[in-house]
Amino acid sequence: MQADEGFPLWCAACEWGLPQAEADRGESTVTAARGRIDLARIGAYTLATVVHTLPLGLLASATVLATAGRGVVAYGLAAVLAVLAVTLMPRPVRLDRDAEILTRDDAPHLYALFDEVTAELGAGPVHVIAITPEFNASSMALGLRRRRAVQLGLPLWRVLTPDQKVALIGHELAHGVNGDCRHGLYVGSALDVLTGLHRTLDPDELPGHEDGLMYMSRLVLTPLLWLCRGAVFLLHRGLDRTTLRSGRRAEHHADELAARVASSEAVAGLLEAMTVLEPTVAFTVRTSPVTRSPLPLWDRVDQAVAVLPDGERDRRLRLAARENTQVDDTHPPTRLRTSHVRALAAIEPRVRLSPETADRIDAELAAISTRIERNLTEAAEAALYHRPEGGTHPRKAGSDGGFEGHWPPG
Ligand SMILES: [Zn+2]
Repeated sequence: MQADEGFPLWCAACEWGLPQAEADRGESTVTAARGRIDLARIGAYTLATVVHTLPLGLLASATVLATAGRGVVAYGLAAVLAVLAVTLMPRPVRLDRDAEILTRDDAPHLYALFDEVTAELGAGPVHVIAITPEFNASSMALGLRRRRAVQLGLPLWRVLTPDQKVALIGHELAHGVNGDCRHGLYVGSALDVLTGLHRTLDPDELPGHEDGLMYMSRLVLTPLLWLCRGAVFLLHRGLDRTTLRSGRRAEHHADELAARVASSEAVAGLLEAMTVLEPTVAFTVRTSPVTRSPLPLWDRVDQAVAVLPDGERDRRLRLAARENTQVDDTHPPTRLRTSHVRALAAIEPRVRLSPETADRIDAELAAISTRIERNLTEAAEAALYHRPEGGTHPRKAGSDGGFEGHWPPG
């Protein structure tokens, strides 16, 4: 295993050592012209309506077949349609499987900070704060009561400055007020249904590789599943495409709202920290089993971040700009977001996190910190000895976070 991060050679003057810049995709941060009919929005709501009415149509057909039809075939078909209808029903969003909930009693200072930010944004209160072991953060509306929840990834939270922490909370809470239909009840739940269905209909997940009867049913079911999966994929692609532009505009708007709360520089600093520090934090976690150091993992992370050379920070920023890096598929390229918030020139933060309160919040997170540190170290050890079953936090479904698979990426 590599013993140090091994920063590549490059030249800051002529940018030798950086890859070719990606072609400009013509994206901008310009907001939509008012008063014009938004065809994409109409398309998105039409597709979402198809997704939401399909279960009712299937259930009606199943009922007709079961009552009017005769014979085993009719009853069997009715059962299949009923199962499909249930599969297509929207499900309440849940927290990530490895998220740990903090109650108001557990973390009064963290909740008070969230309350301050929600008051500034004019957003509803946050009901659930959960801590995850990822270099990421996300927000969602939970269950039928649409209770607002924010997931904070501890490895990210730990390396942010106090003003960047306020910016992160501001961006996540702004998702509740930025008018993004992809996070809304109607289009958002249609997207969730299709994402879950695409995963469920994977023929590779079918049991029975060698077994006689199971093998035969697998042969029959596989082409059917591919057909259904293709239809689901096309619907998902359609919804994704029709909401992409409005979703990205909403992300810029969330950055604007966060900048008003925490300042432009804090939001830009947050975006740069997410770009620059993730490889260093991931490397420190991944190599923790072979590092001969008496220091706890989080202290080693702090140390690695503190000694990261300015030249390497600069290289990572320029590399991300050239590659149009995004925090995930749903967000615009980070370079566009950074320049957009800097152009706002919001200087005075409306919410400040004092060093004393930051320390109190750290104390509230201490127990979870220890557990996540242990889990990440165990997972790194398991990955080292090629024991994937040893991972303690497999990647969950439905997160709008930035990584596919385990964090840290291998
Ligand atoms: Zn966002």
